[in-house]
Amino acid sequence: MNEQQINQILNHTSEVLSCNECGTKIRYGDYDCPHCGNELDDQLREWAIELLTKLNKSNES
Ligand SMILES: [Zn+2]
Repeated sequence: MNEQQINQILNHTSEVLSCNECGTKIRYGDYDCPHCGNELDDQLREWAIELLTKLNKSNES
């Protein structure tokens, strides 16, 4: 874990997710949509995968 990776994590947590049912903006830490109640498991998984991909890329360089 280096300084660059820590920054990537912090930047990634500030990226806004949105509900794929109604488009409501989701805050990090919400597990279902505050507007329509849609479960956000898939979005959170994608978000986590993106973050891991970024971190893996920075590990290689
Ligand atoms: Zn929604």
